[in-house]
Amino acid sequence: MLSNRAMNITPSLTIGINTKVSQLKEQGIDIINLSVGEPDFTTPEKAKYTAVEAIIHNKTRYDKVTGLIELRQAISDKLQNENNISYTLDQIVVSSGAKHAITNALMAVVNPGEEVLIPKPYWVSYPETVKLVGGVPVFVDTDKNNNFKVTPSDLEKLVSKNTKLIILSNPSNPTGAIYSKDELEVLVNFCVERGIIILADEIYEKIHYDCPFTSVASLSDKIKNMTITVNGFSKSASMTGWRVGYTASNSKIAKAISSIQGHLVSHPSTISQYAALGALVKCDEDMDEMVSVFKSRRDLAISLVNEIDGVGYIEPDGAFYIFMDISSFKEKFKNSESLSMEFCNQLLEKEGVAVVPGMAFGTDDFIRLCYACSNEELTRGISKIKKFIESL
Ligand code: PMP
Ligand code: GLU
Repeated sequence: MLSNRAMNITPSLTIGINTKVSQLKEQGIDIINLSVGEPDFTTPEKAKYTAVEAIIHNKTRYDKVTGLIELRQAISDKLQNENNISYTLDQIVVSSGAKHAITNALMAVVNPGEEVLIPKPYWVSYPETVKLVGGVPVFVDTDKNNNFKVTPSDLEKLVSKNTKLIILSNPSNPTGAIYSKDELEVLVNFCVERGIIILADEIYEKIHYDCPFTSVASLSDKIKNMTITVNGFSKSASMTGWRVGYTASNSKIAKAISSIQGHLVSHPSTISQYAALGALVKCDEDMDEMVSVFKSRRDLAISLVNEIDGVGYIEPDGAFYIFMDISSFKEKFKNSESLSMEFCNQLLEKEGVAVVPGMAFGTDDFIRLCYACSNEELTRGISKIKKFIESL
């Protein structure tokens, strides 16, 4: 009954774990949720009121497929002022979340059978979305000692005449690592010289602490022409439920994305787009405040993880994750098919702490902790992880 496409994909584990946590909580079970990557802040007031005003003023009809003109103008200004990239309004397409933006982009450029390079560890939805559009995910092993940041030498052996695109997550979900400008330049020049399109997923762009952030498309005009920039409001403005993201790309790709979106959803909810506009033009201070809270939570989380014997982690400088190395416990889980799955299942069962197994990101020796929660939850959660590890 089902299509091969549907049978060929695995449901999202991050969403799956979060749903399980909600069900356990509904049953009155005390769970500390360090799993899903969702800020615990409420949407900034001015963003909410912009949406309320839109409802009151009946901004509730069909609008432009590519998104509200005012919102695309604000996105274009943001890309110019913050990232030093000029995009015209016709090069920007607002979509229903960054996930949708990624899907649109892949549909626009990837033919069935073409290969998409996905550095490991990867965000859970990349391979499945590539498969959905008929592409072939090609996983790229990266070096733990380089904080799992992909380099040209990691790619060299895997580039073929079928390679169409590479997906880069920077700052990275799940590792929290950030590419320096130099690292990025070498990497994307390697791709551009080989005609490989870069899908630059920059949704965590605003959430970084020590190392500055460089947007791929800002590196040169040649690179910009080969890059599809993906961004959104879920993480930076704590607007996960509003579902607003966008792509910025060359006009040819943007036009194709627009045609696809026109058939699939027409355009994202106008009310949500007004909220996103409010966030962009009125909420800089709120967003900066969230980032400074994330930084203090990162510092707290790291100081607590440092007290646990036998674990390592990738130095987290962005996003809101700690990618924790549990490989030293392999022996204790030697009868399980997957170290990280079994570790996470037992941690949830015994201590009521939910984290995401590295398996979801293609790297079984790790687990991912999200620190977008209160200091109290973070402290309790990590001390329970410590207790669990000590009991192994
Ligand atoms: N890219 C990455 C790396 C993510 O972590 C997420 C998390 N949701 C997304 C894209 C999708 O974001 P959105 O909620 O805007 O669909
Ligand atoms: N991106 C977040 C995460 O990695 C939210 C869940 C999802 O969309 O996968 O946890």
